[in-house]
Amino acid sequence: MSDNPREGLDRRDFIIASIATVGATAALAVSAGAANAQDKAAASTAAASGQGTVYTGDVIQGKKVVSALDVNDLEPGQKHLLYFQGVEMPTGQHWYVSVTVAKGAKPGKRVVLVSGVHGDEMSSIHTVQTVMNQLDPAQMSGTVMAVTDVARPALEGMQRRWPNSGRGNDLTDMNREWPGNENGVTAASRHAGLLFNRLLRPNADFAIDFHTGTTGFDVTAFNIASMDVPEIKAMVELYPVGQIFDNHTYPGVLHNAFIDAGIPSFCAEIGAARVLDLEMISLFVEGTMNVLKHHGVLAGPMGRTGKDSGVFTGNSAFPILASAGGLVEYLVKLNDKVEAGQKVAIQRDSFGEVVAEYTSGVAGEMTGKRSDATSEPGNPLVFILFHKAPPEGGETYPE
Ligand SMILES: [Zn+2]
Repeated sequence: MSDNPREGLDRRDFIIASIATVGATAALAVSAGAANAQDKAAASTAAASGQGTVYTGDVIQGKKVVSALDVNDLEPGQKHLLYFQGVEMPTGQHWYVSVTVAKGAKPGKRVVLVSGVHGDEMSSIHTVQTVMNQLDPAQMSGTVMAVTDVARPALEGMQRRWPNSGRGNDLTDMNREWPGNENGVTAASRHAGLLFNRLLRPNADFAIDFHTGTTGFDVTAFNIASMDVPEIKAMVELYPVGQIFDNHTYPGVLHNAFIDAGIPSFCAEIGAARVLDLEMISLFVEGTMNVLKHHGVLAGPMGRTGKDSGVFTGNSAFPILASAGGLVEYLVKLNDKVEAGQKVAIQRDSFGEVVAEYTSGVAGEMTGKRSDATSEPGNPLVFILFHKAPPEGGETYPE
């Protein structure tokens, strides 16, 4: 055992200590040698005050590890592959997330692309990877940073939620945790806080968070966006996809945390969970390349946009919940137009008898559909995107 001053301190003590001794730790940042508590405290201080990139000194699989990143510190005209040191786990090890930065030869807008906030959403990861692979930093004006595997333990298990060990086997939906809290009570909250404060927010002039449907529930190709914000509307209309969900959705989602920090942002939804839908992925790659051209990061002609795809915009999603147990047969497909009163599904019990029929309460387009064949009462079966007068309060959707 060492007499490292870290002993007896937990993270909370640490952060508080670092805030209380800003001057001292700033001085230590210059002279510190071996990794010790002061190094960590200095790193906290540096990141919290936006003082740039902090290399931990670790190298993982040949890639340098940072605990804070300012893309302005990186060499222009190159791609940089790094690991960001996320939250510390019960083993004392950290969850590291992969960071790819395409730093343009010329200055310009800084773009952040995120996937993997949910662990079962594979097409979102592949979309971001494909965009990054198409970028040539020598030809770029500005910087694109990608973080593809935010919720590491959820991804390792191909599941939506983060398995939190703190209070038994909780499962935390990381897309209700943003902007996070570095001193929060769950690992997911602390991880979100570290990423948001030291990696994502400081490097974003605008940001896109990529998702898919969830396990057992498929969705169309659509974007969730606050279309009343002109900068966001301009980006979202550049996607040649089928639908736009014009809705502010929940507090705590990553794209709303960006917006709250003054950074235009929206959320892309790319079909079903767990699989790669290459056809849909190509639509979001094309749209994202359009967005990069729109902001001057890339040169060249625009690809297809929402005008070409005849994008349908709705501001509300009408849910149909199962009222019985049994096998569900759908009478409509995703993207189909439906009328109010139209029958969209029937359900049979174990004897094969029809026990429920489900009809739409609105006219709109099919945007989500349960893909597991069975359902129990209360499960969402269908979401229908439609227009309605703006709600007075927030809406919540079952999932
Ligand atoms: Zn998601």
